[in-house]
Amino acid sequence: MKMDVSAFVGYLEDANRLICENRDYVTRLDAETGDGDHWANMNMGFSKLLSKKESLAAMGLPDLFRECGMTMMSGVGGSAGVLYGSAYLALSKAFAGRDYIDEGGVVLYLETQAEAIMKRGRVEPGNKTMLDPLYQAKLSVEEALKQGVHGAALLEALKAGADQGMRATAGMPAFKGRACYRPDKGVGHLDPGAVTMEYQLRAFADKMLEGEPA
Ligand code: ADP
Ligand code: MG
Repeated sequence: MKMDVSAFVGYLEDANRLICENRDYVTRLDAETGDGDHWANMNMGFSKLLSKKESLAAMGLPDLFRECGMTMMSGVGGSAGVLYGSAYLALSKAFAGRDYIDEGGVVLYLETQAEAIMKRGRVEPGNKTMLDPLYQAKLSVEEALKQGVHGAALLEALKAGADQGMRATAGMPAFKGRACYRPDKGVGHLDPGAVTMEYQLRAFADKMLEGEPA
């Protein structure tokens, strides 16, 4: 199991496709609890990333992460730009000297982003944000590894955790972001940032699954 730079660029294209296909759904979710721009913010970020895909594909992995971080940070409005920007910049440091993400790197990939978002966003798991699917995916992979699960099943555990963390946001009151200003704190609504994070984690795992024996 190995994701190199060219596979990572393929993953970005797959994540972009999922985001594009769900324009109305994500926009509606953010209109319900936020200001309605989350889909547009994410779409802007991915469009900017993919407009540079040839140059990204020619970089080493840490430089690719750094470029993604700078692009998200400077090119995307809203909380999402800063948070994804911080996550990618942290990945660039964590993967210094590495050319690919292998099975052992999956936890590092999830953990590094979760920690960066917690620090930058001052959030914890359970606060109804993009962190929830990411954090749950990390826990789920760690638990699976503890039980001796490897290969395709490990990536299925990643996806199941991301899905569970995303769905759980519906029952959570928001502590951060615009939803916390509502009297109901957004309870009953999925967090839009959690939904787009789940798309990215699903696309990531599916890309890593390519070539894995089932
Ligand atoms: P904005 O809220 O500035 O309009 P977006 O609409 O692009 O930005 O993103 C909203 C999403 O960002 C939320 O659904 C939530 O998942 C996430 N979010 C907002 N604030 C924080 C925070 N402090 N920490 C982590 N995630 C956050
Ligand atoms: Mg918004």
